[in-house]
Amino acid sequence: MKLNFQNTFARLPKGFFEKTEPTPVIQPSIIAVNDKLAKELGIDPNFLRSDEGLAILAGNSIPEGAEPLAMAYAGHQFGGFSPQLGDGRAILIGEIGGKDIQLKGAGPTPFSRRGDGRSALGPVLREYLVSEAMHALGIPTTRALAAVLSGELVLREKPEKGGVFTRVASSHLRIGTAQYFAARDDTESLKALVEYAIQRHNLQASTAFELFQDVIRKQAQLVAQWMGLGFIHGVMNTDNMSLSGETIDYGPCAFMDQFNPTQKFSYIDQNGRYAYSNQPGIAQWNLTRFAEALLPLFNKDQEKAVQMAKGELEKFPNLFDESHLEIFSKKIGLPQNQDPELIQALLDLMASQKTDFTLTFRSLSNSPDSFLSNFEDKEPAQDWLARWNAAGIPDTSLMKVMNPAYIPRNHRIEEVIEAAQQDNFAPFHELHKALQNPYNEQEGFEKLQQPPTPEEIVCNTFCGT
Ligand code: AMP
Ligand code: MG
Repeated sequence: MKLNFQNTFARLPKGFFEKTEPTPVIQPSIIAVNDKLAKELGIDPNFLRSDEGLAILAGNSIPEGAEPLAMAYAGHQFGGFSPQLGDGRAILIGEIGGKDIQLKGAGPTPFSRRGDGRSALGPVLREYLVSEAMHALGIPTTRALAAVLSGELVLREKPEKGGVFTRVASSHLRIGTAQYFAARDDTESLKALVEYAIQRHNLQASTAFELFQDVIRKQAQLVAQWMGLGFIHGVMNTDNMSLSGETIDYGPCAFMDQFNPTQKFSYIDQNGRYAYSNQPGIAQWNLTRFAEALLPLFNKDQEKAVQMAKGELEKFPNLFDESHLEIFSKKIGLPQNQDPELIQALLDLMASQKTDFTLTFRSLSNSPDSFLSNFEDKEPAQDWLARWNAAGIPDTSLMKVMNPAYIPRNHRIEEVIEAAQQDNFAPFHELHKALQNPYNEQEGFEKLQQPPTPEEIVCNTFCGT
């Protein structure tokens, strides 16, 4: 089968990338192919499962028409700036249907520094499950086209099975891409980047400033959507924040079980910089770094440019609050009656009694009794129910599509990864199936709704790099 590659990124000026080919692996095999996504891209999923398709997904063969490359970017990681990051374990093989097709774990690139350019199986399965769950939940995200076993071991803390993940994205442009050129005073490349981003993402915008406004809007909405699901990205570095407004990079991410606004999971995030409730503030901080990179393009007069940037950045908290209020008002079934205090009261109550974020909201659409069953101390929960009842007639069908029954719970993901280490992929496929339909209870998947028992709780997640 001939794949229809376009490779517009490869047409950009030289500094944007390094041409790099994947390094073949010894004995690849398919773990999963995303049939629906393949068809959307005009690819026959059975081709992807064929020997020829597998060879492409493993990086063992370069499809006709593709021009593999590693993208250059910079980024603030945990607040510190690295002027030179770039795709160290990812290779963009080309674009199909306007989407980037990228292999993660396909071997070293000129940007790999000390890394091996490989992925362990665990992070491959995690990204596949969580990104596809996010999509089914209605959150903008990069997608998973395929996961393969490499048949090789990668050396992490101990030797682990290796995998290659095929990621599909509207683009892999990030705040760090702009920072890369800004750090080199390369205004011409910045201009090319802005033009390219506008065209790739089909924006109405025609200037760098309008692109900036678009990214602010999209990120405010995106982070509000994360918050509505108890999602913690875990590594909101500026190189992991996409200009398309898609969630990208599922390294140490996690969904919360018990509600705790200061929750963090990532082992490397010792200070909780990227904890749940810090996410909007961090998004704004990252957008400020984006503004700094684009300043030369906002206005010739740099003082004016700074004023323009400040004016937009100041709007972020309101944009976020509006989205957040709308989402949570829908979650409690009262889209017409948006009362921030009523919502905050519920969140405070959930935090103080450490109730399960997902189950508490889901049960509210079922019955008062099932809602109350989440709370040990019933009285304040009953008081809240009375306030809620007085606030209007809740739209329970709306609540059912705003409050999932299934999220990719951490302990289930760990279980999936452990089984996969023993060559048992049944738990992976089972969890994936349940997560395809997150807003409907499905027979046989009851256990996937349940929070972890005390022994099952996962305290830390790891980047797996
Ligand atoms: P991430 O945490 O995935 O956002 O990665 C941060 C940076 O480290 C990026 O430039 C990656 O390409 C690079 N990186 C992560 N893991 C590896 C690896 N195994 N080999 C080479 N580079 C890596
Ligand atoms: Mg990254």
